[in-house]
Amino acid sequence: MTGLDFLAPEHRNLFIGGEWRDADGGDRFEVLDPADGSVLTEVADASVADALEALDAAAAAQAAWGRTAPRERGEILRRAFELIAARADGFATLMSLEMGKTVAEAKGEVAYGNEFLRWFSEESVRIHGRWMQAPAGGSRLLTIKKPVGPCLFVTPWNFPLAMGTRKIGPAIAAGCTMVVKPAAQTPLTMLALAAVLAEAGLPDGVLNVITTKHAGEVSAALQADDRLRKLSFTGSTGVGKVLVRQSADQLQRVSMELGGNAPFLVFGDADIDAAVDGAMIAKMRNMGEACTAANRFLVHSSIADEFGRKLADRMGALKLGRGQDAGVDVGPLIDENAVESVGRLVTDAVHDGAKVVVGGSAPAGPGYFYEPTVLLNVPADSAINKEEIFGPVAPITAFDTDEQAIERANATEYGLASYVYTRDLARTIRVAESLEFGMVGVNTGLVSNPAAPFGGVKHSGFGREGGFEGIEEYLDTTYVSLPAD
Ligand code: NAD
Repeated sequence: MTGLDFLAPEHRNLFIGGEWRDADGGDRFEVLDPADGSVLTEVADASVADALEALDAAAAAQAAWGRTAPRERGEILRRAFELIAARADGFATLMSLEMGKTVAEAKGEVAYGNEFLRWFSEESVRIHGRWMQAPAGGSRLLTIKKPVGPCLFVTPWNFPLAMGTRKIGPAIAAGCTMVVKPAAQTPLTMLALAAVLAEAGLPDGVLNVITTKHAGEVSAALQADDRLRKLSFTGSTGVGKVLVRQSADQLQRVSMELGGNAPFLVFGDADIDAAVDGAMIAKMRNMGEACTAANRFLVHSSIADEFGRKLADRMGALKLGRGQDAGVDVGPLIDENAVESVGRLVTDAVHDGAKVVVGGSAPAGPGYFYEPTVLLNVPADSAINKEEIFGPVAPITAFDTDEQAIERANATEYGLASYVYTRDLARTIRVAESLEFGMVGVNTGLVSNPAAPFGGVKHSGFGREGGFEGIEEYLDTTYVSLPAD
C-alpha cells in the first residue's frame, strides 16, 4: 500500500506506552502537501500534559528495558530493518507527500535511514567496558557501560526518517527509552516508523511519539523533569542553543546536530566533470534542504567559469514538479518562508555583483518551488556565503591560492560538512587537516554513511551519530575499583 493510506488512520495519533491515543484535549493539527499547500491529513496535537505522560511511560519502561539482553534489542532493530526494507515504497511515498522530495530521493532516504537500524542492531552486542591493572599495581580497574536513561529526541522536517533512526537506533541498542518529537511539518513518517518498531516487538513505553505544534513548551517541560537524562536534537543552531541552555538545570547529556555552511572546494588540478557530478549531489540532494548541502562553491580562478557553465547546464536541465510525479527531479521547498528566504539571498547576491547563470527566481504557484540556480562571481562577504541557503542555489566564488581557499572555507561559524576536489594527494591531506569541519568529503559529494561518525564542530554542534561513536552518546560509564588480591 502506498500513499497516505500507508499510515493507518488510528496511527495518526500520539503513541504513548504502546497505545495510539488522541491528545488530552482532543486537539489536532493539519499536515500540508508542500507541492500545492493542500491539507493531507491531521494528527494529534500534544499538550505539555500529554508530553509528560509520554515521559511517564518512558521512565516506567526504563529499568526493565535497560536489563534486556543486548541480542534481544538487536533482534528487534533487525526485524524493524527488514520490515522497513519490505515496505520501502510505502515509506518513500508517504515521506514524499509530507516533505516534497521526489519519491526516488525518498527511497534513497529510506535505504539510508534504515541502515542505522541495521548498523545499531549489530552494535547492540558490542557494548563493552574494559579491565586493566592499575599502572602502580595493587588494584584492578573495571569499567561498565550503562544506558543513560530516558531520552528526548527532537527532529527536523528535512529527513523525516533518517534523522529519527540515527537517534532511535543507537538508543534502542544501548537500552534507553525515549520520547520522540518529530517536526510538525512532517510527523507522518515518524508515526509509521513507530508502528513498525511496535510490530517488530519493541516493548510498550520504550518508544513514545508525540506530535505537537507546541514544540517550545513541550521541550521545556520535559527538560525541566529530572527523569529525562538525555536530549538529542537535530535542527537549527538557534533552537539548539535554546535547548542547550535548558539542559543546564537538570544537567542532561546533550547531542546537537545543527546547521551547516559547507564549502565545496574545487582546486585547479581537479577533474572538472567529476566535480560537477559531485556538486549536483552535494547541492541538490533534498533540493538543497540538507545540513550537509554545499553552500559555498570555492573554485580555482583558472576553472571557475568552466565549472560554473557545466554546473549551470546540469542544473538548468532539472525538471521541477510534484515529488510523486514521474520524470520530476526537483520537488518543492518546505513552505513559503523557505522560498522567500532563498529568493532574498539570491537578490542580495545579485545586488552585491553576482551574475545569474541559470535560474534565479521562483515559478508562479501553487506550491513552494524555486528554480535550480547557479550564481557566478559571488563576493565572499555576500549574505549567501554566510547563511545556510537551504535551497537549490549554487553560489560560486573564485580563489587563487590554497591558503586563500582554506581561509575562506573556514570563515564561518559553522563546521559540519566540507567537500574537496583535487587529484593531488599532498594537497588532499593538507586541506583535510586544515578544514575546521566535522566531515570532509574528498572527490565525493556525499559524506553520510551510517558506519561513519556524522557530526559537526563550532556552531554546527557536538556529539556524533552513526559509526562506533554513535552508541556512546547513549551510554554512561561506571568505573569499579577492585582490589588485586
Ligand atoms: P528547527 O530548529 O526550526 O526545528 C527542528 C525541530 O525543533 C522541529 O522538530 C521543531 O518543531 C523543533 N523546535 C522548534 N522550536 C523549538 C523550541 N523552542 N524548543 C524545542 N523544539 C523546537 O529546524 P528545521 O527548520 O526543522 O530544520 C532545518 C535545520 O536543521 C537546518 O538548520 C539544518 O541545517 C538543520 N539540520 C541539521 C542536521 C545535522 O545533522 N546537523 C540534519 C538536518 C537538519
